Amino acid sequence: MRIDDVRRITLGTFVRPAGETGGEPRLEGVYGYLVRHEHGFVLLDTGIGAGDEETEAWYRPQRVPLQQALAVAGVDLADLMLVTNCHLHFDHCGGNPLLGATPILAQRAELATARAGDYTFDHLIDHPGSSYREIDGETEALPGLHVIPTPGHVAGHQSLVVECDDGSIVLAGQSHDTASQWSADVLAVGARTLGHADPLPTAPAWVERLLAFDPRRVVFAHDAAVWVPTG
Ligand SMILES: [Zn+2]
Repeated sequence: MRIDDVRRITLGTFVRPAGETGGEPRLEGVYGYLVRHEHGFVLLDTGIGAGDEETEAWYRPQRVPLQQALAVAGVDLADLMLVTNCHLHFDHCGGNPLLGATPILAQRAELATARAGDYTFDHLIDHPGSSYREIDGETEALPGLHVIPTPGHVAGHQSLVVECDDGSIVLAGQSHDTASQWSADVLAVGARTLGHADPLPTAPAWVERLLAFDPRRVVFAHDAAVWVPTG
């Protein structure tokens, strides 16, 4: 497996309203990531689910159906052997009902939160025949494919690390909204090594866990920018 065996798929866009940006409305992409693992295709995130009228009016999403997004990569829904979501908000699990019995890897706590209501749209979770594999915390789901808890945006958020022959790639999901925010956290982790003294910014503890894989790339759910190490 090589880093180029991990491919971004575009699942749509939405308009984050001015009330959430503190300025102008902002267009944001919704990206999933397809891993051509030696055991089969693995997908992180499935797109923007159908919301209620209020949500549609607030975010004004334009969707790319999951089948269509996968077809661009030459892949069919039936080719997926494992799916996971960075978290279960409606813009990350919208295509889950299309998955039939394909296993969906989910943090137990995140799934419980989603099932408790007032978190996502119920029809996106527990579709007929759905097959969740619940995990608690970090796990190596397949050889070289690590699930790492990255709480912050939501408590049950998780990211993937894919160890490839030519280095690791982190599929961060929405651990950060933008690559720049991740970049700032990487500098924060190394601030003392760089000779800086307090007061200093802090970064979540899991940033160091992700950096331990020495990633060659870090990619995100809502930002097409790709982080690469400064060397
Ligand atoms: Zn999101």
